[in-house]
Amino acid sequence: MNTSLIDLAKTLLEIKSISPEDKGCFDIVENYLNPLGFETKRINYLNVENLYSTIGSKGPLFCFLGHTDVVPSGPEELWDIDPFKPEVIGDYLIGRGAADMKGAVATFLATAKEFLAENPNPNFRICVFLTSNEEGEPADGKINKIIKDLQDAGEHIDYCLVGEASSSLKLADTIRLGRRGSLSGSLIIKGKQGHVAYPDKVNNPIHLTGKVIDTLKEMTWDEGNEFFQPTSFQVSNIHSGTGATNVVPGHLEMKFNLRFSSESSEDSLKDKILSVLDRFGIEYEIEWTLNAIPFITKQTFFKDVVMKSIDSIMGYEPEINNGGGTSDGRWVAPMGTEVIELGPINETIHQINEKVNINDLEKLKYIYKEILINLNQV
Ligand SMILES: [Zn+2]
Repeated sequence: MNTSLIDLAKTLLEIKSISPEDKGCFDIVENYLNPLGFETKRINYLNVENLYSTIGSKGPLFCFLGHTDVVPSGPEELWDIDPFKPEVIGDYLIGRGAADMKGAVATFLATAKEFLAENPNPNFRICVFLTSNEEGEPADGKINKIIKDLQDAGEHIDYCLVGEASSSLKLADTIRLGRRGSLSGSLIIKGKQGHVAYPDKVNNPIHLTGKVIDTLKEMTWDEGNEFFQPTSFQVSNIHSGTGATNVVPGHLEMKFNLRFSSESSEDSLKDKILSVLDRFGIEYEIEWTLNAIPFITKQTFFKDVVMKSIDSIMGYEPEINNGGGTSDGRWVAPMGTEVIELGPINETIHQINEKVNINDLEKLKYIYKEILINLNQV
């Protein structure tokens, strides 16, 4: 086995790059790509570092999209190893970020190197586009700003391969052509505080909220479509009460989230929720956060290339599933880019003892390379 890919992944995993910090991962990436002929730009917004590295001067632009930040390790004593001292145990490389997604980032680099060694003058351009704030909260430092700058500079990404861990039970059994949208709400329901013994003198916000939740959890937001499951609503936090058993509280705080299909919009969802609150005559304050709008790649050219490449390396075609959380593909898709997510098995992402199978990473490299080879034949 070629160990350089795994060594490269380990080098990245040793860096404690918790969102939104890169902590030197990009130095490793730049030092790897520039000797291959890539030109690398470091674009920093606020505290967030981004790397945009390109090679080639003709043809469509293919992009490897990923991130170098990781989520915190959680309690280190629960890990079998130090989460930032990666180790290969059996067939698995263990460490925070192994599957999400430094393993894939290392695979991007190794793929580019091998492909360019065999095809020094391809018919298309390649870029590696990385951010250090994928996992963090939406902020101005996210890559949407940089995409806008790229567009303003006349750049257009034609094909984008996101290395997020899309696979479910075996490598490349699942790819994503899009993701659902995400809308969060932070709601304060106002009532009237008082003594529990005088029910006619209070207005219990907990009881009011019970009716609201009952209605919202039964609501049909949409039926979904061929690309997405129906929109779903979940309450994630709820808090009220003074701690005393004989006091009706004056207000209740609740946080909720909707994962929504392209059949709903930010406005249609807000309207439905506000109309429920109004129907019950509730006094409230609400703050919204739109984390992501849904995106879907409907063009089929790049999808067909990816399907064919997976089939020729793995001997099976992947299923298309557009579930899961959000990804940075959402920022690239509005350019009109064909965006596909294909990465390692996602079983352990964000968990204790996050791991990736080292044979899978090698195979992922062959799939990525096959995609580039197929693109080069067009
Ligand atoms: Zn990720």
